[in-house]
Amino acid sequence: MQRFLLFLAAILILWAALSASPAPESQPRWWKGNTHTHTLWSDGDSAPESVVDWYQANGYQFLVLSDHNVLQEGERWFAVSEDGSQRLKPAELKELQERYGDAVQVRDGAKGREMRLVPLQELRERFDQLREFLLVTGEEVTAHFSGEDQNYPVHINAMGIRGVIPPRGGDSVVDLMNAALDAIKEHGEEHDVPVLAHLNHPNFGWGVTWEQMAQMRADRFFEVYNGHRGVRNDGDDTRPDTETMWDLANTRRLTELDLPPLYAVATDDAHNYYGKTTAMTGRGWVQVWSDALSESALIEAMHAGDFYASSGVTLRVVSRKPGRYLIAIDEEPGVEYSVRYIGVRRAEDGTVGEPTVLAETSDNPAVYAYQGDEVFVRAVVESSRDHPNPYKAGDKETAWTQPAVPPFR
Ligand SMILES: [Zn+2]
Ligand SMILES: [Zn+2]
Repeated sequence: MQRFLLFLAAILILWAALSASPAPESQPRWWKGNTHTHTLWSDGDSAPESVVDWYQANGYQFLVLSDHNVLQEGERWFAVSEDGSQRLKPAELKELQERYGDAVQVRDGAKGREMRLVPLQELRERFDQLREFLLVTGEEVTAHFSGEDQNYPVHINAMGIRGVIPPRGGDSVVDLMNAALDAIKEHGEEHDVPVLAHLNHPNFGWGVTWEQMAQMRADRFFEVYNGHRGVRNDGDDTRPDTETMWDLANTRRLTELDLPPLYAVATDDAHNYYGKTTAMTGRGWVQVWSDALSESALIEAMHAGDFYASSGVTLRVVSRKPGRYLIAIDEEPGVEYSVRYIGVRRAEDGTVGEPTVLAETSDNPAVYAYQGDEVFVRAVVESSRDHPNPYKAGDKETAWTQPAVPPFR
């Protein structure tokens, strides 16, 4: 009898375990992350641990360290600039030592003191926390096409990769850009992991035009907003801003090239953590809607378009289908919001129109009912509040959501 009761108890415990409420991982939510960051591993001015620390302490759940053509791996020592004229000044080293103690390793090299750069694997051991914070592997695959008149920078961030991806050449900007996108895609296939590539700052050095951007093939993400003050998000008198480039490229992709629409990210492209304001932390980020905080879940959600770009506005809901495009804003007291639905329409005779504001509203939620003749529809939410640390003086906090395309039902 006793044996039978024990057996019964075991069955009950097993049943309770199996029927327990689903693990919290199954609840989707927004995860905030920056996908473009530099450290001393390339041309950033700060040690990787203090960069990661900043993002973790400032409400981000994930971060991609995307140094130029390098992963943070292996043994690297960085010279201390004793006269303070270069990166890693003595005062900065001292501050690191005060914060992290013996974890900061210093040696006397042939030319003086050197500090060991902490590799990604160790950063993960120190900073990753289940459901709280995740470091995603990354690299800024950095190249340029040498034209007759100038060099055209083509910088593409790769996320989720398992090894360094060297840039490839090409006979034109488009060739070189697509070769890098192919290399990243092939790397993902080879390692059987989801990867993501985003074209960075197309207007930096006037590297990539909207016509060229329209021809991105192996992946489809680009930076509509990059917080580095040298990247010309706003274009100039003769060249369009990145938001207009997005719409022009998408119109061509959807009406002539039979390619899916480009999705947009906002990033910091942070390089400066010590006083310089050119490329600081906290200017632009993405919010990804996913049930898990893992590399594969985040990347797959972004491929599905389940994310938005932001420089300050927080959204609760972004729902692009069916029949209407709905946005619910997480309002902050005393701040006003305006939602603009932007798209392109096709006339009855087939003529494709120009990108235009289809509707504008201060309703929350903001709803746009599709007319059925749109080539695509996306939304921009602008707040009345100034960005606290802007790319450009007077910038308002903004969010950009991804384009919806037919069929809308
Ligand atoms: Zn770049
Ligand atoms: Zn960069």
